[in-house]
Amino acid sequence: MDKQANRKEKTVDEFGRILIPKSIRKQFDLKPGDTLCYEVDADRIILRRPVEKCIFCDSSDSVQTVMGRPICAACKEKLKTE
Ligand SMILES: [Zn+2]
Repeated sequence: MDKQANRKEKTVDEFGRILIPKSIRKQFDLKPGDTLCYEVDADRIILRRPVEKCIFCDSSDSVQTVMGRPICAACKEKLKTE
């Protein structure tokens, strides 16, 4: 991918906020009230969706939300058979 095409500028407002463009919000399915994690590096700030972990085994593999709780496919299968 063209690196320059990925470089856009946003201005920080007086409260320290920046606006995430609608196209990016759509791409990452970000809705008002959603939480993002950020990591700070020497020269960059990385935003990412929180990694959902299974409440039973802590795995982050194919985690889905069942009754409002994150659960992995393997544990979901186990629950079905127990
Ligand atoms: Zn699990």
